[in-house]
Amino acid sequence: MSSTLQETYEALRDHARETVVLSSVEDLLGWDEQTGMPPEAAEYRAEQVTLLAGMIHQRSTDPKVGQWLARLADGPLVENPVSDTGATIRHLNRDYQKQLKIPRSLVEEQTRTSVLAQQAWVKARGNDDFASFQPWLEKTFELKRQEAECLGYPETPYDALLDQFEPDTLTSTVSRIFSALREDVVQLVSAIAESRRKPNVELLEQSYPPEVQAKFGREIAARIGFDFKRGRLDVSAHPFCSRPGPHDCRMTTRYQEHDFGDAFFSILHEAGHGIYEQGLPPEHYGLPLGDAVSLGIHESQSRLWENLVGRGRAFWEYLYPELQQTFSSCLKDVVLDDFYPAINKVRPSLIRTEADEVTYNLHIFIRFELEQTLLSGELPVADLPAAWREKYRDYLGVEPSSNVDGVLQDIHWSAGLVGYFPTYALGNLYAAQFFASADAALGGVSSRLRRGDFTPLREWLRENIHQHGQRYAAVDLVQRATGQPATHQPFIKSLQAKFAPLYGL
Ligand code: ZN
Repeated sequence: MSSTLQETYEALRDHARETVVLSSVEDLLGWDEQTGMPPEAAEYRAEQVTLLAGMIHQRSTDPKVGQWLARLADGPLVENPVSDTGATIRHLNRDYQKQLKIPRSLVEEQTRTSVLAQQAWVKARGNDDFASFQPWLEKTFELKRQEAECLGYPETPYDALLDQFEPDTLTSTVSRIFSALREDVVQLVSAIAESRRKPNVELLEQSYPPEVQAKFGREIAARIGFDFKRGRLDVSAHPFCSRPGPHDCRMTTRYQEHDFGDAFFSILHEAGHGIYEQGLPPEHYGLPLGDAVSLGIHESQSRLWENLVGRGRAFWEYLYPELQQTFSSCLKDVVLDDFYPAINKVRPSLIRTEADEVTYNLHIFIRFELEQTLLSGELPVADLPAAWREKYRDYLGVEPSSNVDGVLQDIHWSAGLVGYFPTYALGNLYAAQFFASADAALGGVSSRLRRGDFTPLREWLRENIHQHGQRYAAVDLVQRATGQPATHQPFIKSLQAKFAPLYGL
């Protein structure tokens, strides 16, 4: 009997593996679309991707997958839920059941709506015309309500949507962590606003030749541990990182001559994602044991390298002399004591993607709170712009004068990504918690960073996070790696430790 079960398991796994081959081709086409595809190729590309998406969907809802899973359920191979077979079957079953719960008609309606809503969003942004986007947003949230009802949820419909990005995490848990953090952050932001110290960011806006930025960024990405024998760095309008093969990790950035930080920190950010991807077991590529556990954990890896390492004092004590030499016409007379505050300038702003380390999460809290009330219907979409302005006033003390700088700035809702935003803030919190634990375990990370020794930190992350894939849920992974549940304490502590001296608080 058990040998037949083993065979069933292998059939299931091999079937999933072939589906992964198809979706990796889709990823590669997506990368090409963003980095090199000529505009006239778009139509045929859409045909290629649509065919692939159909094939992938058909394979993953194949009734024989359901039969295999039913045979394996409750058997000896799933007895230990975190064993190789247990974790694999558990995740494949969960994905399969999810696909079954959502009727095809709803999937198609959502796909169609998201294409049209994104087009409407682009137009509405161009004309600062929220009213023209409003019906699409209403439709999107209506479909999301239906989706949540189909999927089911433990406490609130938002749970079902959040679960797609941050599995096994409840809305109420996130709310609790965020509201504890919010008060501390708001306090810190207002203390910084009252400080007389004003970093000089103009020194970052001199002429930094893009080709020199590219060479320098690539070199540093390699030094922190991104493996260029198994990856690439290219240019795209919006930086991203994808992995269309077990040994093929592709990240992108964009260069602006008069903004040193934009490309450099985005390279560190994407390299953080890439190092995570490269640390997942390649033999399980695309399968549960070889896949990222959640978006929040993924973002923790990018934020850790971008902010906790890359915007840290120790890192620049090591790297600044080299940076000065590389861009000597800009920086030869600039001391580290001026450069370091400039890359850490805090200022409440309207645009999430440009926000600094301290204010960033406030942008997320606003979206997290608003999308819950939009989903429940408590906030009519028509009232969203006003509610948005009010929250920005309350949390950040700034108010957009147009919807372009307000509610129309993010693509997420138009693309049907509801429940996605909180993973950014969770990533920041996890990052600080991991960093603090690595620091304790390694007996001080700073002294290593000061010497340019990134290996111990990277290995700690690999051992405690990367290598596990989805074996443990994100919440359990945090607990195992840090010895405590997810909390905002390490994050607020690290902000205070950094920004109090910077702003003389
Ligand atoms: Zn990211």
